[in-house]
Amino acid sequence: MQNIIDRFLSYVEIDTQSDPHSTTTPSTEKQWVLAKKLEQELKQIGMSDVTLDDNGYVMATLPSNVERIIPVIGFISHYDTSPDFTATGVKPKIITNYDGKDIVLNPEENIVLSPNYFDDLKQYKGQTIITTDGTTLLGADDKAGVAEIVTAMEYLINNPHIRHGAVRIAFTPDEEIGRGAHKFDVKKFGAQWAYTMDGSQIGELEYENFNAAEVVVSVKGKSVHPGYAKGKMINAINILNEFLSLLPKKERPQYTAHREGFFHFHSIEGNVSQAKTTGIIRDHDRVKFDARKELIEQIVGDLTDRFGNIITLEIQDQYYNMKEKVEPVMHIVDIAEQAMLALDIEPIIKPIRGGTDGSQLSYMGLPCPNIFAGGHNFHGPYEYIPVESMERATDVIVKVIELTSKYYDEKED
Ligand SMILES: [Zn+2]
Repeated sequence: MQNIIDRFLSYVEIDTQSDPHSTTTPSTEKQWVLAKKLEQELKQIGMSDVTLDDNGYVMATLPSNVERIIPVIGFISHYDTSPDFTATGVKPKIITNYDGKDIVLNPEENIVLSPNYFDDLKQYKGQTIITTDGTTLLGADDKAGVAEIVTAMEYLINNPHIRHGAVRIAFTPDEEIGRGAHKFDVKKFGAQWAYTMDGSQIGELEYENFNAAEVVVSVKGKSVHPGYAKGKMINAINILNEFLSLLPKKERPQYTAHREGFFHFHSIEGNVSQAKTTGIIRDHDRVKFDARKELIEQIVGDLTDRFGNIITLEIQDQYYNMKEKVEPVMHIVDIAEQAMLALDIEPIIKPIRGGTDGSQLSYMGLPCPNIFAGGHNFHGPYEYIPVESMERATDVIVKVIELTSKYYDEKED
């Protein structure tokens, strides 16, 4: 247990916050500190082909120890943390044998992690929990994933009696700003499929995510002295308001769950002469996703018929549901599910209401479901992770590698 705790703590103490306003990769200079440390550490535990490229992507190989040909599989996590909350000076607290009661993170500011509010905590009674001191995020998203992958590799290196094919691992920058996959060299990685270790609670296994698009609607109005505006003024705000009112009222994030999609317009700015709103479209179903885009086009078309050519519509696809790419190779999900069942972990298979790097990678030719890394309450001061969940995630990695080799053994017989 101490090994993975120490490893995890050595990562979270390094500030690796990414920055959406930067155009470099990694987006922040400080991410290099952890990237270089990981490069060194992988060499030190005995990994092969350890590389750190110009964009901060760390890759390494655990070579096969069998003669047979087994597909190369991969494990991926990101080492940056969210720009939503500070990661400077992370001072983790370790609570052993958690008693199931309130955890006071910060007595001075009365910041309390309470199971009455965060009821997931209750299931971890008796376990060892790592929290923040209430002033930063923790960075379990996704340094837990990094620690689990490194620990699993170390375990396999130290236990060569476990027979396995070649395994590739990768650690990426900038996942939190949506760019983790952007400069990922899928060809160099060379795996047939991979898993991101970037989920939340123990048991999570995900291979469905949203189809996603961003929408910007801008209106050019006509500003005229309001006292003499009759028949002349076109108020851009009113037209934008009408656009928003024509969208289905129940299809908003606050009214939807599971596989229900939505429209979400999250920002609006403007005055009489020009106004702009930005929003997103999300839907797991590709047909419904396309229908949502068509509905917006139709509403804008109708408004244009009424008010003239003063509305500009931009719709940009962001990512797609990985299910399309994973279903043809469904055994990669089955193997992960079997690995959990073999370890007495109940698989929680549900669609992600968001996207992952895995969805982008899946469309880049690397099918990539997501497995739990164990943490909770990401991107804020209430983030925590039970050490037992990190250990279990490490076990799942080892088991997936074992079962992959068995799966191809049996196929050959
Ligand atoms: Zn993450």
